[in-house]
Amino acid sequence: MTIGALKEPAGERRVAILPEHFSLIKKLDCELLVEQGAGENSYSSDKDYTDAGAKISSREEVIANADILVCINLPEEKEFPSLKDKVLVGTFHPVYHKEIFEKIASSGVSVFSLDMLPRSTRAQSMDVLSSQANIAGYKSIIVAAGIYPKYFPMLMTAAGSIAPAKVLILGAGVAGLQAIATARRLGGVVEVFDTRPAVKEEVQSLGARFVEVEGAADDSKAGGYAVEQTEDFKQRQKERITVAVKKADIVVTTAQIFGKKAPTLITKEMVESMKSGSVIIDIASSTGGNTELTKDNETVVYNGVTIVGNSNLPSTMPYDSSKLYGKNMIHFLELMWNKERQFNLNFEDDLIKSSCITYKGSIYNERIK
Ligand code: NAD
Repeated sequence: MTIGALKEPAGERRVAILPEHFSLIKKLDCELLVEQGAGENSYSSDKDYTDAGAKISSREEVIANADILVCINLPEEKEFPSLKDKVLVGTFHPVYHKEIFEKIASSGVSVFSLDMLPRSTRAQSMDVLSSQANIAGYKSIIVAAGIYPKYFPMLMTAAGSIAPAKVLILGAGVAGLQAIATARRLGGVVEVFDTRPAVKEEVQSLGARFVEVEGAADDSKAGGYAVEQTEDFKQRQKERITVAVKKADIVVTTAQIFGKKAPTLITKEMVESMKSGSVIIDIASSTGGNTELTKDNETVVYNGVTIVGNSNLPSTMPYDSSKLYGKNMIHFLELMWNKERQFNLNFEDDLIKSSCITYKGSIYNERIK
């Protein structure tokens, strides 16, 4: 079998497989074909890939000769017919782009999307949402610190004292928890909101204050994800967040509801109450954003407050994000080989089943159907 690694579209600096992953691909008895220039934005040259044992080819040749194509973003629509009978693995967020999967299904390609894997213990080693959200959480604080015109830590110097930065994190999932840890390492004082009371202990163990709003909707059947809240809860949460936002110097928003628009948690009026020079980093921007004023992939300054809308912070740390992504990818590909070391898509396996989006010319995934 041949695995083909595709170059990502402009604006995406990550790559699905780095040269260092080649030894793991060899264990699957596979050849690796890499599109020319695929790793250049992740600091991996074509020579690095060939030194590791891969072969470099044009995009057309990679698509024509590979059995399994690995990537992060979906190839362009005009390429779908050339993907016929291939297996395509990436992170395509199909719950937000259902229409395009009707088209790709009809071209006869079997698509697997890693973001559809369940958040179970067995799937942890291939959980791209976690590996990339961890980076996003870390980088959100680094970006905020770069924009914020003051110190993060408390300082007492002969020239006077500096108060620590007040950091507010909305959503304590994987990204939020890493943002808390990073803000704490820099010396910030951190407050956190989440609708899932289960995260309270984790938040506190990182040295942050968890602000509890009573009466959150039951999320026990949502596979670990948050669910939509009642109007009453939203109102009470809004009142508490209004107070917290006014005090905050830096706000990182990460709140998402799987398959739905992100909840609006920070209104224009709340931004108007913030001190000039404050910073908001909205990493939920691609699904609508948690701030009313967020513009996806843009930085806006409103009333002296800088609002960064960026859901692709992992792309700004392309080496480490590709390193972790590639490992996740290979762990997933390993599921496609049986004990006899033969390629075999086993749909009895819940990880294969839940991540398969299209198969044999139609949509396979029940949630996408
Ligand atoms: P996510 O990106 O879907 O959402 C980020 C956070 O926002 C979540 O903590 C969510 O509860 C919170 N949120 C949603 N609406 C909110 C609102 N209105 N106000 C405040 N907060 C709100 O989350 P994620 O990081 O992808 O994690 C999803 C779940 O998966 C979590 O339960 C996490 O612990 C779990 N998880 C499990 C495993 C595993 O067991 N293998 C691995 C990773 C994550």
